[in-house]
Amino acid sequence: MKLLSIIVPCYNEEENVADFYREVLKNNAFFQEKELELEFLYIDDGSKDGTAAEVKKLRDGDERVHLVSFSRNFGKEAAIYAGLQKAKGDFAVMMDVDLQDPPALLPEMYSYIEQGYDSVATRRVTRKGEPVIRSFFARMFYKLMNKISRTEIVDGARDYRLMTRQVVDAILAMTEYNRFTKGIFGWVGFETKWIEFENVERNKGETKWSFWKLFLYSIDGITAFSTAPLAVASIMGVLFCFVAFLLIVVTIVRKLMFGDPTSGWPSLVCIISLVSGVQLFCLGIVGQYLSKTYMEVKRRPIYLIKEDI
Ligand code: UDP
Ligand code: MG
Repeated sequence: MKLLSIIVPCYNEEENVADFYREVLKNNAFFQEKELELEFLYIDDGSKDGTAAEVKKLRDGDERVHLVSFSRNFGKEAAIYAGLQKAKGDFAVMMDVDLQDPPALLPEMYSYIEQGYDSVATRRVTRKGEPVIRSFFARMFYKLMNKISRTEIVDGARDYRLMTRQVVDAILAMTEYNRFTKGIFGWVGFETKWIEFENVERNKGETKWSFWKLFLYSIDGITAFSTAPLAVASIMGVLFCFVAFLLIVVTIVRKLMFGDPTSGWPSLVCIISLVSGVQLFCLGIVGQYLSKTYMEVKRRPIYLIKEDI
């Protein structure tokens, strides 16, 4: 028998816990045929509703269900990391509890592992059911990210991934505090098979990601997997030196030809505002990296466990 660990991050998802469990078990015939044993790892990411209670109810009827409760909300990335650490399986798969990662894909995904792939990843080819502005910014983010980072980050990639123990261990070896999972998967490499599917709408409840949270998350992603923004300061510096040099020449020539050195106060104000804006912007970029480095050197734990059943 082989063991498959199913890692499920949950944050205020009491209505979805049992539905998810039932949906996964619809593949029971397949699990039996392939001699796969299951282990459900529900990671309760500091939920304030009855998520933990729901998982315990499931556990009463099924020993394969495990619950790890965090002391507060640490974020999905931390939950995934905790799940991977707890997973004992020969294979592990991460899935959203809201059924946006269809469990019906598991047999197909497993077939690729059998063919020798190290990991099977999924991406959604449509974003229907999602606000238009959100999709637009998501696309922009992936375009930009792939320009400035050497790590490949696939547009529409989900965190829904099935992988072998070897890949799990590789991901666990990355102990960084600022975890951007999509980048980490790309960074570790290995032979990955991509499966595409149509976007599925959330089973019950609301999304936990506001536009603002996603925006901050995208900045995390950029600082974690690219240092290109740091070069912006240098490039702009060179550019402005060049423009300044031209302006000096223009001023001198104008003075010699027309003898009017005092005019141009408005343009001076514009230039000063522009340049100080650019300087602050660049300082901000450096600050972003500095703050990430600061959090990283503190070596705080990625999550804290309140309950582990
Ligand atoms: N989630 C989590 N911690 C958080 C936010 C979300 O564990 O701080 C979980 C959530 O319960 C769900 C998954 O991450 O299982 C994806 O969240 P959601 O469905 O809200 O995101 P979306 O699918 O809208 O991107
Ligand atoms: Mg979702």
